[in-house]
This record gives sequence, C-alpha cells and structure tokens, in this order.
Amino acid sequence: MPADSHCHLNNPAFADDLPVVVRAVEEAGIVALLNVGYDLATSERAIELAHLYHFMFAAVGVHPHHAGDVDDATIATLREWGARPEVVAIGETGLDYYRNRSPKDAQERSFRAHLAIARALNKPVIVHCRDAMDDCLRILEEESVGEFGGVMHCFAGTPADVRRVLNLGMYISFAGNVTYPSAQTLRDSLVATPGHRLLIETDAPYLTPAPHRGKRNDPTMLTHIVELAAELRGVTRADIERLAMTNFDELFRTGRGFAGEVAYRIRNSVYLNVTQSCTNECFFCVRYHSDSVQGHNLRLPKDPTADEMFAAIGDPTACDEVVFCGYGEPTIRLTRIKEVARRVKAAGGRVRLNTNGHGSHLAKRNIAPELVGLVDEVSVSLNGADAATYDAVCKPLIPHAWETTVAFIRDAKAAGLSVTATVVAIPNLVDVEAARRFAEDDLGVKFRVRPYDLVG
Ligand code: SF4
Repeated sequence: MPADSHCHLNNPAFADDLPVVVRAVEEAGIVALLNVGYDLATSERAIELAHLYHFMFAAVGVHPHHAGDVDDATIATLREWGARPEVVAIGETGLDYYRNRSPKDAQERSFRAHLAIARALNKPVIVHCRDAMDDCLRILEEESVGEFGGVMHCFAGTPADVRRVLNLGMYISFAGNVTYPSAQTLRDSLVATPGHRLLIETDAPYLTPAPHRGKRNDPTMLTHIVELAAELRGVTRADIERLAMTNFDELFRTGRGFAGEVAYRIRNSVYLNVTQSCTNECFFCVRYHSDSVQGHNLRLPKDPTADEMFAAIGDPTACDEVVFCGYGEPTIRLTRIKEVARRVKAAGGRVRLNTNGHGSHLAKRNIAPELVGLVDEVSVSLNGADAATYDAVCKPLIPHAWETTVAFIRDAKAAGLSVTATVVAIPNLVDVEAARRFAEDDLGVKFRVRPYDLVG
C-alpha cells in the first residue's frame, strides 16, 4: 500500500497513455499519490486528475524555474485553487540555484508568496531546494513553516541537513536518485531520517530509479525506492509502505487517518501498545512529535485491557517475539502485562519487555523476580553512564530515576533474566562508550546502541 508523495501525472509526458499508466499504478497497489503542479497549467491539470481518480490528490504551485513569471494574478489564482478540498498542499515552490532559470530575488519573492498562501490556508508546502539549502531553511524558518507544515521533496542534503529540516518540523521525501550508485550521501540521509518524518516519491516522469534510468519514470517505479529504503533501514518492504502511507495521510491531512493500534508489527516482532503514560519525558521520544511509529498509529483513546492486548496479538507463535512497549512505560501496568505475558508463554510465544526500569519504584517492591518465567528478555533504557546525563536526556518525573534504573538492571540480572541495557546515541550528550563500559563491566549485562530518531 505505498503512497507516492510527489509525481507529475499532470505532465504532458503522460498525455498519450494516461489511462494505461493509471491502470498499472492501481495494479501495483499504489493507494495514494500527489500530482504536484509546477505552473498554472499543470496545477489546474492536477486538480482535474484529483476529480477523475479517487486515489489522486493535487498540489498547486509554480516551480522556482518559472518564478520570474509569478505576478499578483498568479498568486491570486493559486490562492483560490489552493482552498479547494482536493488540493492538499501548496507547491512546488522553493529555490533552485543549480539552474538559476529565474533571478534569485524573483525566486525568493515567489517562495515567500507560496508560503503565505500555505499559512493562510493551513496547508503544507512542498519545497524544491537545489544548491540553496541555507537560504531555503532561513526563509522557511522566517516564515514559520512549522505552523502549517511541509516537506522537502527530492531531498538532496546531507545527514546534518536532515537534522536542520527536522528542527523546522518538516517531512523529508526521497526520490529515485537515492538509488544511483554515486548517491551514498543521500542514502546516509535516508537512514538518518526518522520514520515519522519520512516520505517517498517518484517525481515521475523525472528521476527514474536504477535500474531503469533512461526510461520514462512513473509511480509504479516507487517499488525500487521502497526496496532500497527497507534494505538500508533494516525493515521489511511492508514496514516502509505502511510508514509512507501513514505519513502521507498525516502531512497532507487527507482525512483517511488510521485508528490507533493495540498491537503493531515491525519486521517479524509484534509490539504491544501497553500505555500512553510514562514516568519520563525523554526529549527525543517520538510520542511528542508524531502519532505514529514506523507507520503505525499508536494514539489510543484509552489503555487497552489485558483481553484486548492478547486478542490483538493473534497467534503468538506466528511472530519472533511479543514486545511490551508502546507510547509509555509498560510497567505502569504491571498486573496487566504479567497477565498477558503468562498467556503468551502458555501459548508458546516469546516475550520481551521494553522498559525504562522504573517498575520497582512504581510498585514499591523489587518486581524483577515476578518477571521470571514470564519474560524472556528485558531491554532497559539506561541512556547514560551517570545521573546528570540521564536527567538531561530523559527528564524523569520521579526522584533518583537513574539510580532506580540501575538498581532494576542489577535486580533483573540477579533474578536470572536476560538483560540488555540500551542507550540512544544522542550526539554531544550521551557518551556511548562510557555507557557501554558501565553496562558491560559494572553491571555485567548486554549493551545495545539505538540510533537517535529511529524508533522500532
Ligand atoms: S521512557 Fe520511553 S515512552 Fe517514556 S518518554 Fe522516554 S522514550 Fe518515551
């Protein structure tokens, strides 16, 4: 169920065989695509296509190449078209200093005018940025893009640029050029983009992915980008497709949102969305930035009962493991997770608990012995080799949180549980090697580094 976040079936390249292409796109399982206007004619055509085909949406805008042609009448027309419900974004707009087909001042004027429309209509903006990252990001920040959202389409920046775009609250979309042999930096950027901010696109008819370079691109070729993204990120194709679809719906506010999920599958593990409550407020926590993890909506109206959790798992032997996890700290619901774990074990399944290690504090007793026989593996978020680092990263709501976490790790090991301490590799904040030494040498447990901003 992939979604193509940026293509141009409104381009004359598809004038002769559009019905054939559309049939192939539907047969390929593309469930949504966004036709993006790059001048008034193609913007109007994108709207027409959204009327003709239920799975197509439209964006209206004028490409920076044509910024010199943008006048007040153009902006008024885009403003009027942009208000239509089938138009879910404004663009593509931005800056292109690579070809410089319009003067830079005209590009900036047009870019700011598009951003003003997006703000007025509260719709996301689609940004084309080529050899102009500093100016693009400066203008986006000055125009407060975070208030209405947007995407850097056909991203062409470094992993450091990824961080700067994320700080503006924007999404990042990767196109077929990520498959080109020379594009290692782009592939690094794709890996550095957190799942809840990732989109994929074909930019058809341009940027045909390998191995089809030289042919006309179309949305069926999205599969090559899906495959590469799955390989690079160590997940399945289904994980990437779901994530791209969910992010498409979130950014473009299609109104097709998915209901929150009690159990969700990543690779061949089933994760349980145990609770929305936590004793930490980790600044990196995805729940503060998104409703979804790897394309799964985790925002539940209430915490699930034990019966609901067990039913949502399905057959526990049909997955590698059942993981107690979610948008909060599972041991807040210790009684429930013990009950579900007991049933999973009785059915022959394997159980892992992801925890911040505060369970004993919450229960006012050492809970580690109670987990023996119910839990096969415990992953504990250590997040630093000292209390000061932990407090800076996790912003705990309980006193002496790091000491509590360390005590739980020691208790769990003493009880005979298989324990892995984890840290999130936050640059300039977490000393990963110090944490490794502390976990392996002092605590005598396994150690795992979790990439910053990559959840699940
Ligand atoms: S402990 Fe986990 S769920 Fe709680 S805030 Fe931190 S990352 Fe989020």
